[in-house]
Amino acid sequence: MLDATGPDAIFRSGLANQEILLPKCADCGRYHFFPRVLCPHCHGEAISWHRASGKGRVHTTTIVRRKPDHGGDYNICMVELDEGVRMMSRVDGITPDDVRIDMAVTAFVGEADGVPAVFFKPAEV
Ligand SMILES: [Zn+2]
Repeated sequence: MLDATGPDAIFRSGLANQEILLPKCADCGRYHFFPRVLCPHCHGEAISWHRASGKGRVHTTTIVRRKPDHGGDYNICMVELDEGVRMMSRVDGITPDDVRIDMAVTAFVGEADGVPAVFFKPAEV
């Protein structure tokens, strides 16, 4: 049985409701990710949860080469959200070669191995 009140469980239950929730510290006013019990910036305990804007930019990107019969190449990237936190994910909807550093992306909740997870797509202009 998972700890239903732990920060990781809160994040995952948000995803299950198609919501990306980010922990924010009331003491220093900064967001962090992954979810923690204590703020990693100031060790404050006053963590509250806020729906992410979903807007961000690609910070780093890399292409994982895979044979076509294993699903083909895919992209792994680090996205920096407007809230200042970084998430490891991938950009869907374009070929891996077209993912560029600093490109604007929008988060969405998809599925990885049957579990809700955060992915990104190119931001609409
Ligand atoms: Zn803090």
